[in-house]
Amino acid sequence: MTCKAINAARAMMLLGILALAMPARAGIEDALQRADALRTSDPQAFAAALSELDALEAQATEAQTLRIRLLRTYQKALTGNYEIAIKDAIALHQEGKDPTLKFRAALLAANTAAVTREFSLGLRYLEIALAMQDQVPDANDRHLGFLVAAILYTEYGQHSLSLQYAEQLLALETSPRIRCPARLKKIEAEWKLGSGAGNELATSQAIADCIAQQDAIATGFLRGQLARQWAAAGREGEAVELLESHLKEVEATGYPRLVGEIHSLLAEYRQATGDPSAAERHARAVLALGVKDAYSLPLVTAHRVLYETALERGDLGAALGAYRQYAEADKARLDEVKAREFAFQLSRHELQQRDHAIDLLSKQNEVLTLEQEVAKKSSQVDRLVILLLLMLAAMIGFWAYRTRRMQGQLRALAQTDGLTGLSNRRHFRERADVMLSRCTASGQEMALVLLDLDNFKHINDRHGHAAGDWLLGQVARACRAACREGDVCGRLGGEEFAIMSCGADLAAAQRIAQSCREQLARIDTAAIGHDRPITASFGCTTSLRSGPTFERMFAHADAAMYRAKADGRDTILTHVEPAPVTVLHRGQTSA
Ligand code: GH3
Ligand code: MG
Ligand code: MG
Repeated sequence: MTCKAINAARAMMLLGILALAMPARAGIEDALQRADALRTSDPQAFAAALSELDALEAQATEAQTLRIRLLRTYQKALTGNYEIAIKDAIALHQEGKDPTLKFRAALLAANTAAVTREFSLGLRYLEIALAMQDQVPDANDRHLGFLVAAILYTEYGQHSLSLQYAEQLLALETSPRIRCPARLKKIEAEWKLGSGAGNELATSQAIADCIAQQDAIATGFLRGQLARQWAAAGREGEAVELLESHLKEVEATGYPRLVGEIHSLLAEYRQATGDPSAAERHARAVLALGVKDAYSLPLVTAHRVLYETALERGDLGAALGAYRQYAEADKARLDEVKAREFAFQLSRHELQQRDHAIDLLSKQNEVLTLEQEVAKKSSQVDRLVILLLLMLAAMIGFWAYRTRRMQGQLRALAQTDGLTGLSNRRHFRERADVMLSRCTASGQEMALVLLDLDNFKHINDRHGHAAGDWLLGQVARACRAACREGDVCGRLGGEEFAIMSCGADLAAAQRIAQSCREQLARIDTAAIGHDRPITASFGCTTSLRSGPTFERMFAHADAAMYRAKADGRDTILTHVEPAPVTVLHRGQTSA
């Protein structure tokens, strides 16, 4: 068998695993599904299915077209066109939008690169695919990723990683078809890591599982593994027996790697059990496979067995020839081991660098976010401070307004007579002083009219105090009605009222008093049951007549008023100096 054919067979083994999962849909979807299923089981039928898809491609959606391209890429890989397959798989991974397609394309690139021993590229796409697992919706597709990882990491000699993925896979609910190769990878990795000796029971169970799955290749490799375990326990004879009894099945798989491996084990164990000719036969069977690729351990073993058996029988010429080939194969294999180890370390380093770069970026992002938060917080604090200041200003404004209003109310209360709303005695006095100064300054005369209700006590006594209060209110209205604009009215106490007027001489004062007298007479007292008109005694004076001091004016007006009272009430009298007071009007007096 040629090297290319062997590579193709190995590619089939690796790529075949990728065909385990694909959803079914009608029409073109069916054709896609069928082709995908045939891909590894029957290469010719797969080619025919692809031709069928060629005819259907015109109706394909964009996503389906990409899936057809993926199948064609598989075919290129299966038919040995690895370089093109890798290129196409990478392009599909980059162009595709559907995560499953991208994932499968990355795995295909990784697989094919492993076949062509492009270790760095293979690892990169394997890691790309593994990093995408979370985006892949179908569990089978995801599990496939783990399986490919377990297989490829074995290819790269990374047995602990292979073990890790195999164990992850076995810990999941996955199909028996996937469990079989997963168990193989686990047992192989444990063996390579030195923890597999004596674990024959697990190997035997895995063999039984793989037989049930009709997976002859995995079964063959597992038997090889069981033989190794037995041989390690000194049971080489049983190992030979096991391998020999299933050699036909192994050869029937046509998978050179498996066939080579079993023959090389047989060569080794036959030699150990003292059957050099059988050992040589098996060693030559390995060489007959035509595997020329340097990485093959069975090849190295076969050359070693041939060299040692030739040496044992004393054929130095053959021994030397075999030794040369053994040394060459061993060196080439070691070179490759170094190359893939280097590729792996390089890929780890690249990954670390990428992680560091991502870490750095995310740290920068965190710093930026924190800066933004700080800026946001400080602007929030600024806004809060402004709001608080505004609230404080509003509160101060409101407080000042309320204080002013209260002061105004208090002042009004202090200045106003509560019953009538007129200025009280003190306030009347203050206003009088102001008016007097103003009138004097402007050369005007100021009049003062005092009045005292007649027989008010009698109303209180007859109709009650409340009626008296009501009447005082009416009297205040009468006084206001008698006032001219700018005049000031006040209640000086009890039933005594006063009006002052700037720019009013005695005659004007008398007119004011007369007007007031008429207003009083108009008060309708029916409401309190009083049947007599309301009258008052008036006393008038002016600043010209009494002099420009309030005390004198008040004393004179008061005196005139008392004279009016004494004169029989309902009378207006003015202060006359030095002549006796003049009676201006005499009305009816109350009883
Ligand atoms: P005269 O004609 O001599 O002035 O007689 P008069 O009854 O009006 O005068 P007097 O001084 O004897 O009585 C005044 C009365 O006014 C006595 C008092 O009870 C009453 N008075 C004083 N202030 C008020 C008040 O605010 N409400 C009421 N209802 N009566 C008041
Ligand atoms: Mg009185
Ligand atoms: Mg009175």
